[in-house]
Amino acid sequence: MNPRQTDAVRTRARMVERLRSQGIRDEKVLAAMGQIPRHQFVEEGLAYGAYDDTALPIGFQQTISQPFVVARMIELLRSGRELGKTLEIGAGCGYQAAVLSKVAVDVYAVERIRPLLDRARDNLRPLRLPNVRLKYADGSMGLPEAAPFDSIIVAAGALGVPQALKDQLAPGGRLIIPVGGGEQRLLMIERQGNMFKESWHEAVRFVPLLTGTE
Ligand code: SAH
Repeated sequence: MNPRQTDAVRTRARMVERLRSQGIRDEKVLAAMGQIPRHQFVEEGLAYGAYDDTALPIGFQQTISQPFVVARMIELLRSGRELGKTLEIGAGCGYQAAVLSKVAVDVYAVERIRPLLDRARDNLRPLRLPNVRLKYADGSMGLPEAAPFDSIIVAAGALGVPQALKDQLAPGGRLIIPVGGGEQRLLMIERQGNMFKESWHEAVRFVPLLTGTE
């Protein structure tokens, strides 16, 4: 490893310790966060702050979530089970898809902004993660051709839960989505037969879930 890589490994280990002190308990999630080089997903000028607990711009008025929120959403989705086949809505720069690839069987990540999807593809290529598939589409419709999913993670805020996403949950499947107008909170939905059990979690701030593609 060159000195810069060694530096990144050390900074990443500090990030994992911080996540632990912030209350992340799932060792598998912590290990995944420790493995993915977050600095390779942000612009070069921002790489020095890539492991701070802040959201960072990724262009096109979008942001990569702070590490705590990435870890927390995956921890909530996992609690007590494995993620299985997983759908991410809002691939952005591809960071969360990379983390998911370490804890899920298959990851389908959907993005509605074409140049961002291309960037995600470029960012993911050197990591050679064979279980991640990127799709250019409006994720508010889910991804019918690959449904049903054991887990769905929405990385953009919505006013309500798109029905298509609930419909594409497998039995026992879980969906996590930031919901709210002014203040957003994480909402987790668990499918039990045709019942949908809801639970509310942390306050968060996400860019909006939009419809259509561009
Ligand atoms: N998880 C990403 C960051 C997400 S930012 C990462 O790790 O980098 C939110 C992303 O959701 C943005 O890229 C935005 O374009 C995308 N998005 C918003 N609405 C969407 C929709 N309906 N379908 C797919 N992607 C959407």
